[in-house]
Amino acid sequence: MESVTVGILGGGQLGRMIVEAAHRLNIKTIVLDAPNSPAKQINALDEHVDGSFNNEEDILKLASKVDVLTIEIEHINTDALIKAQEVYPNLKIYPVPETIKLIQDKYIQKLHLIKNEIKVTESVSVENTIESLQEVGETFGYPFLLKARTLAYDGRGNFVVKTKDDLQKGLDFLSNRPLYAEKFAPFTKELAVMVVRSPKDEVFAYPTVETIHENNICHLVYAPAKVPGSVLLKAQNLAKAAVKSFPGAGIFGVEMFLLTNGELLINEIAPRPHNSGHYTIDACATSQFEAHIRAITELPLPRNFTKLSTSETNAIMLNVLGTKEPNGELVACKKALETPGASVYLYGKTTRFERKMGHINIISSSMKESERKLSFILGETQTFEE
Ligand code: ATP
Ligand code: MG
Ligand code: MG
Repeated sequence: MESVTVGILGGGQLGRMIVEAAHRLNIKTIVLDAPNSPAKQINALDEHVDGSFNNEEDILKLASKVDVLTIEIEHINTDALIKAQEVYPNLKIYPVPETIKLIQDKYIQKLHLIKNEIKVTESVSVENTIESLQEVGETFGYPFLLKARTLAYDGRGNFVVKTKDDLQKGLDFLSNRPLYAEKFAPFTKELAVMVVRSPKDEVFAYPTVETIHENNICHLVYAPAKVPGSVLLKAQNLAKAAVKSFPGAGIFGVEMFLLTNGELLINEIAPRPHNSGHYTIDACATSQFEAHIRAITELPLPRNFTKLSTSETNAIMLNVLGTKEPNGELVACKKALETPGASVYLYGKTTRFERKMGHINIISSSMKESERKLSFILGETQTFEE
């Protein structure tokens, strides 16, 4: 296919699945991360860079070997990317460093979205003092969320302030991190939409999905979301408008809250493949990973490529998280292997409690059938037959 080489900052499961999609198109990938990271395991090359996506020298080393640079995680050294662009003017970097920078700080991300007239959860910047948080409590009421502006994932940078008495606990929990506060969103559901942006500034939305979190970690994804068609469409339009405001190309994950009055608010945006888009591997003609590769290497993105494979496709994605007992998560994987229409993806990681070890995609012609298969995989029922 194309004689381009793509460099990936980060070699976790998202990098691994980008590598898989690229290889199907004969696109070579070189990965920067620790030795034997998940993406390197399936990509036997001597050229990989062992190091960190925060280290300028390592990033420049990767940049010297590739035509296009991309990321599988937003918590990277953007100044080094800007330097790489100066040193290698022909290098393409997607998403563009400016976009990564805007998104890295969740509060700046919110300000950017507000400036572009996109509805977000109401937020305010705070000082790391009790007085500052008391003011927030008076304006937003309780509960409200205290959030780390940077380096957040899986809710680890979040603290729910339930009452005045929690203010100090919140400061202690997130000590020494830059913070902002967010109004509590009384959502009925959490929705998400993957949006791919082409270098020509076109945006294409994947179906609207419903995400179910447990302990702040994505547990299940229902595709399509079990909401009225008008909400599905509204969420896709909101996600497209949001992604249109960020320059550059590539795939974006847009997380949203659906409120009781039907209003949609954006929670946050990820400038990369996203956990809520893993279902696309089996449920759509083109996966989120292939869409990303196509967008950043300027390959075609034809009509309807983001659609579900058929009008009857109903998918559930189950995250496989490490259990307290080492390898206990493999029980669900074995059940999934016995289930028609289920596919197992394991990431090559060492088992650890609550670590994202893999995921399972379940595809059926009705959501009821997918739910029956899910109950069987989770060990709640003995059979997936009706
Ligand atoms: P991710 O792993 O998705 O990057 P994160 O650490 O950036 O997560 P958020 O997405 O900000 O964290 O929050 C994690 C979860 O906490 C949300 O999916 C939602 O369930 C809940 N949450 C976050 N903000 C709010 C809010 N303002 N009101 C109510 N619930 C919230
Ligand atoms: Mg986040
Ligand atoms: Mg989130």
